[in-house]
Amino acid sequence: TAKKETHEFKTEVQQLLNLIINSLYSNKDIFLRELISNASDAIDKLRFKSQTDPEILGDDTEFKIRIVADSEKQTLEISDNGIGMTYDEVMENIGTIAKSGTAAFLEALEQSQKQETLTPELIGQFGVGFYSAFIAADKVTLITRAAGPEATATQWESAGDGSFTIEETTKDSRGTTVILNLKKTEPDEKNFTDEWVIRNIIKTYSDFVEYPVLMDVEKDEPIPEKEQVLDKDNNPVATTRKVITEDTLNSMKAIWAKDKKEVTDDEYKEFYKHISHDWNDPLTHIHLKLEGTTEYTMLLYIPSKAPFDMFQQDRKHGIHLYCKRVFIMDDCKELLPEYLRFVKGVVDAPDLNLNVSREILQQDRLVKNIRKNLVKKVLELFAGMEKETYENFYNEFGQVIKEGAHTDWENKDKIADLLRYKTTKSDDKLVSLQDYITNMKADQKEIYYITGDNLSTLINSPHLEQLKEKDYEVLLMTDPVDEWVTMALTEYKEKKFKSAEKGDLELDKVDDDKKDEYTTLFDYIKSNLEDKIKEVKPSSRLKDSVACLSGDDYDMSAYMEKILKASGQ
Ligand code: ADP
Ligand code: MG
Repeated sequence: TAKKETHEFKTEVQQLLNLIINSLYSNKDIFLRELISNASDAIDKLRFKSQTDPEILGDDTEFKIRIVADSEKQTLEISDNGIGMTYDEVMENIGTIAKSGTAAFLEALEQSQKQETLTPELIGQFGVGFYSAFIAADKVTLITRAAGPEATATQWESAGDGSFTIEETTKDSRGTTVILNLKKTEPDEKNFTDEWVIRNIIKTYSDFVEYPVLMDVEKDEPIPEKEQVLDKDNNPVATTRKVITEDTLNSMKAIWAKDKKEVTDDEYKEFYKHISHDWNDPLTHIHLKLEGTTEYTMLLYIPSKAPFDMFQQDRKHGIHLYCKRVFIMDDCKELLPEYLRFVKGVVDAPDLNLNVSREILQQDRLVKNIRKNLVKKVLELFAGMEKETYENFYNEFGQVIKEGAHTDWENKDKIADLLRYKTTKSDDKLVSLQDYITNMKADQKEIYYITGDNLSTLINSPHLEQLKEKDYEVLLMTDPVDEWVTMALTEYKEKKFKSAEKGDLELDKVDDDKKDEYTTLFDYIKSNLEDKIKEVKPSSRLKDSVACLSGDDYDMSAYMEKILKASGQ
C-alpha cells in the first residue's frame, strides 16, 4: 500500500482556516451543523446515484448518520454511510484546492480591512463547511471509503496548522467518519461530548435533516420485578438500571411538507441555512402548496446577501428537487431561469418520476409548468416587498434581475416593473419606471437615460444641458447591463427609452438657415477629424458647452463601446 504523505494546505485554505478559528470562537456550535450537513449531502449524493445504479448500495440500505462521543478521550465522531470519497477526491476536496471564490473572498476582506471584526455573517456569505471542525478540534481525522467496488479507504489527518497527512487505510463499510480530537475546554465551557450539549445543537440546527442522526445514550430502564435484588427489609435495592440504547436525535420532519402555521420563524431560518450553506438569515421566504393539475409544494427563500460567486461560471443554483419528501437532486437548474439563480429552496413535486435524470427534466412538461409557476410566484414576491426590504434586495440582486429583461421575454414587463434607478432629480434615491412616468412633463414623450460608470460624471454631462433646461428627468444608468436592458425593453408602458447621448433628441430642431451660418466652421472641423466622426451638426441640446460627441440612434453609447473594448470585443 502507498505510504503516508504530507502535504501543505493551499495558502488560501490555510488563511481561511485561520479566519474561521479566530472569528467563530463564540459560535463554536456550528461545526457540528456543518459536519452533519456534509454527512447528509453525502447520503443525498449516494441516494441520487442509486436511483440509476441500485447495486451500489449493497446490503447497506439504511441511510444514517452516527455520532459517538467519548468523554474520557475527549473525542467526537461523526459518521455517515453516504457516497464517501476516493483518495483523489479527498485530495481535491479537502486542503489542496481552494473552493472557487476563496481568493476573491479573502481579497475582498483584506480591502475592507475587516479581518479583525470578521463576523459570522460576513464569513457566512462564503460558507466554510468542513474547516469549521477546527473551531472545536485541535486534530481532525477523516476516514473515508467511496461507495462501489473499490475496497481501499483513505485517511486524512491534520492539526489545522498548515499541513495534512494522507494515506491509504482500511474501512469495513462505505462512507465517511470524521473524528475530532476536541480542544481542552474550561470548566465553565460547553463540553461537546456531553449528551445534552449534542442533543441541543442538533435540535437547533439539524432537526430537519432527513436521515436519522443516531447516538448511543445511557437511559434508565425499569428492572423487571423478578430480577430485582432485595435488601434485608425485602425492598428492592434499585428499581431502575442504566442501559445503553440508540436514540435518534432529530425529528427528520420535512418542514415544507408541514402546514405553515406549524413552522416557527426559527425553524424556517435554520432550514434555510441547512440547504443554502449561508449563515445569514434569509431576507424572506415563500411557502406554498399548489393543488390542481400541477401539484407541488414550494418553500423558497431570498437570501439577504448576494453570494460571492453570483457572477461566476460554476456557481450552483439553489433549488433542491424532491418527490414526496424523497430527495432527487440539488442544484436543479431546470426549475428557475438563470437570472433567479440566487433563489434557494425546495420544490416537492409528487407526480414526478423518482428516476428522473437531468436530461429528462429539461423535456418534462410537468417541470416546465412548475418552472413557469415558480417564476410567477417569485416575481410577485419581489413586487410585493415593503419598500425598505425591496431596496435591500435590489441593492444585492438588482444586477442579476436585469439579466432577465433580455432573457425572459414572457416576463419582460414584470421585470421592468422591478427596475429602480437614480435620476437627475431623485437626490440619490431609487426611482421606479412607473414613478418616472408619473413625473414626466406634459410635453415629454420619451424616457431619457444616460449610461456611464460614474454618477457624478453623468449628472454633469453636457448631453443633459437642454434636457435640464426643459426640466426633464433623466435616468442615470451606471450598471454595465443597463444598456442591454434598455435595448431589450425598448419601451415601458408605451414610452420609448431614449438615450440622451444618441441621435436627434426630439428637441434638437434647429433652423435651417442657422445651419448655413456655420458651414465653413463645420467643414473645417470635419476635414480635421475625418476618420473619427461621421458628421458635424448644430444642436440646441447644448446650453453652456461648446460641443459634445453624440451617436446615431442605433449606435452604441460611448460607455458601451468602452465596455466592449475593455472586454476585448
Ligand atoms: P461544501 O459542503 O459547501 O461543499 P465543505 O467544506 O463542507 O463544503 O466540504 C467540502 C467537500 O468535501 C464537499 O463538497 C464534499 O465533496 C467533501 N466532503 C465533506 N464531507 C464529506 C462526507 N462526509 N462525505 C463525502 N464527502 C464529503
Ligand atoms: Mg458542507
